[in-house]
Amino acid sequence: MEKNEFNLKNVGWRNEKLVLALLKQHGPLSQSRICQLTRLGSSTVSTIVSRLREKDLITETPGQSGKRGAKPILIDINPTGQYILGVEINPTVIRIGLFNFHCDMTEQISVPLGSDHSVENVIRLLEINLHGLLSKENIPPEKVMGIGLTLSGSITPAGVVKLSSPLGWKQVPLRQRLKEKLQWPIHLYSTRVRLLAEIRAKPSLASKNIFYFNIADGVGSTILIDGHLIHGATNRCGELGHTIVQPDGPPCGCGHNGCLEALIAGPAVAKKIRADIANGTQTTLAESINDKTPPDEIIEALSRAADLNDAYAKDVRDWIAEHLCRAASLAINLFDPDVLILAGYVSQPFLPCFMDHIRRQFADRVYDPTSRQIKIIGARCGREALTRGVAAAVFQDAISTA
Ligand SMILES: [Zn+2]
Repeated sequence: MEKNEFNLKNVGWRNEKLVLALLKQHGPLSQSRICQLTRLGSSTVSTIVSRLREKDLITETPGQSGKRGAKPILIDINPTGQYILGVEINPTVIRIGLFNFHCDMTEQISVPLGSDHSVENVIRLLEINLHGLLSKENIPPEKVMGIGLTLSGSITPAGVVKLSSPLGWKQVPLRQRLKEKLQWPIHLYSTRVRLLAEIRAKPSLASKNIFYFNIADGVGSTILIDGHLIHGATNRCGELGHTIVQPDGPPCGCGHNGCLEALIAGPAVAKKIRADIANGTQTTLAESINDKTPPDEIIEALSRAADLNDAYAKDVRDWIAEHLCRAASLAINLFDPDVLILAGYVSQPFLPCFMDHIRRQFADRVYDPTSRQIKIIGARCGREALTRGVAAAVFQDAISTA
């Protein structure tokens, strides 16, 4: 990760970040409590606080009065002091979230991408819509501390998208291209950031061993072991979606055939359903979808049809469940998690069914099953997981003193 320009512009910023990190962790604090927690002298803390005040990054409000003295002034992060733009680029839409300095989402928009997945089109849409969102919310551009972007694929530390199979991008110098058009610091993250959104929604997860299994436009996973995200030698840890499960299967965007992603990712399932209907399969889905229905809506229609006992829909659902279950069993044997999170629009409508399938197969597919206690849960953050996660990553990096 490159140094944030937001950091470099500010001399003495390290101590300021330390105080902001404490406020983020503890909530409002008095100046004397900040002295205790930082072990810095009161005059040093006064200087830090006055710098943060000048930058409009903190609020100061009277707290509850103590039994003996005056009301202490409580210092907190000023939510309107800075803003973060969180962006998810996927083959269907560009999702943009506007986050305040508390990292709370204050506004969001979805921009349909249409059939033009070119980098030029994505950058053009970003330029128009990021400025439009700030203007609509009356936020001056200089109040934006940075943009975090994420997309499914492998991204180098220099911000080059080496390969994104869902978008069909190879060797795209995305950060450089964006820098030419946008004035803010640009941060690119892998989709692992979505786990940060889950942890923010449920802080107790931070200390767990988690296998986060996402099935949406792509198939991927994020692994947290002993509280640490696992990245791997080339930052590709978790590419479970590119495990070949059917060597003579359909082509995958990665160049291989029969990857898990080429079978059960949303676009792959949508393609299979369309092909089956075109080949004469009898199903009520034939009436509810057409050539233009996006994959997420096809998956929702599949779920409704399965609930209404459509035999074909139930077969497709169970076929996805079986693939998911095999992959989850493999992941449990490899990573020994205590929490398995199922996420993404392909798994969300079928959660009870998929969880049940994994539990039923557990004893036959997982090594030493009786000694494990794995909690299987659905992701909480839904479609906003990536924009929320990427904003949390920008904020975390900005206040990191490492
Ligand atoms: Zn693949």
